[in-house]
Amino acid sequence: MSTLEELRAPAAYLFLVYASCFLLYIVVPGRRVSGYVRNARGKPLLYRLNGLRVFLLTICVTGCACYLSNTSFTLASSHRMSCCVWACLLGLVVSSLFYLKGPFEEHMSAHSVPASRDVGDFKNFRKAARIFFNGWELNPCLGLIDFKMFFYLAGATMLEINVLSGLVYHYSTFQEISWPLIVYCCEMTWFLVDYVYHEHVQLYTYDLFAENVGFKLAWGCLCFYPYFYSIGLPVLYQAKQGDVPYLYYVLIISIVVFIVGYVLSRGANNQKYKFKIDQKVKKYGFIEQRSIGGKLLVSGFWGVSRHVNYLGEILMAVGLALPGGWIGGSLLPWLYPVYYVLLLVRRERDDNVRCQQKYKYLWDKYTSQVPWRIVPYCY
Ligand code: NDP
Repeated sequence: MSTLEELRAPAAYLFLVYASCFLLYIVVPGRRVSGYVRNARGKPLLYRLNGLRVFLLTICVTGCACYLSNTSFTLASSHRMSCCVWACLLGLVVSSLFYLKGPFEEHMSAHSVPASRDVGDFKNFRKAARIFFNGWELNPCLGLIDFKMFFYLAGATMLEINVLSGLVYHYSTFQEISWPLIVYCCEMTWFLVDYVYHEHVQLYTYDLFAENVGFKLAWGCLCFYPYFYSIGLPVLYQAKQGDVPYLYYVLIISIVVFIVGYVLSRGANNQKYKFKIDQKVKKYGFIEQRSIGGKLLVSGFWGVSRHVNYLGEILMAVGLALPGGWIGGSLLPWLYPVYYVLLLVRRERDDNVRCQQKYKYLWDKYTSQVPWRIVPYCY
């Protein structure tokens, strides 16, 4: 490839994925679901959820478009760094547009930053930077487009395409697929499909009810999510099976740790979701739904620690890091679980303050009954 091609092809590839995802997100029908977030009039926001369909269709469209245009599907892996740079630029441009546009006033929610369209009004740079980073509002929408839901979906789809592309790249380079790569790809695919399948549960999470759409979310989903979350992938697709003297038991540990993490995370999130939509339900599977004041769950996953779902997420990240980090012998894959620890420890602290203010004495009662923040008997 010429230098120009080297730059142009990854940009076109990225454009193809994100543009297809965006168009499909608009045209593919989805079920209408009431969310947890309320609008300024106190009514639950109505979401159109088509995540899984769009996720799968975008992957098919990308594969077909690559085939028809004689472009290699493996470009996402062979030119990973260029794709990442373009994604970074795209994230920056989109965030800047969001900042300059200001709030989508007619859809302002109760959580939005007070509107001021004139960015020149700002008294100080720090305030502007804060709004640029965090965003103006919680749930910017334009007709059928809910930007927050779209960004999460686009990031997950691009990440899955990176994973599949890595698999194809590895096979076309070595005419075989190594076991560590298979384990990694299965775990990451499970993580992503599960995420889009449970889109309705995500409506009840912190990201949806507490975080605005700005640079952090737009750049985070378009660039950081597909490229940092797959940081362990290149180590695996660039290595030939025989090059790494890998150990089967490490793969087994990876799978076990991942599954335990998944059960804790999905179990806690689903238990809370069931409780939020109907507090009168007495059981979640075989777990009795006990609560404090009918508001805070104290049984099952929520009785083990106050955020056992965070522990689950960290364990899944460890499971994903093991194939590349241990077997591949690289330190890079470990950045992924380290990032989760830093993110979730900080988030638990923020959430604790939020819940303390919201639930007051009920929260004190809960913390005395469930003293562990994330890891039972440890932290
Ligand atoms: P939680 O699902 O723990 O949500 C916290 C909220 O749940 C609280 O603000 C409170 O909200 C409510 N709550 C807290 N304790 C209780 C209780 N005992 N009973 C009932 N409700 C309670 O956290 P997140 O939304 O941050 O995380 C959701 C999932 O997403 C987790 O599995 C997390 O690991 C994952 N995650 C994934 C990330 C990724 O990048 N892959 C990033 C961050 C999170 P309320 O005011 O509504 O009661």
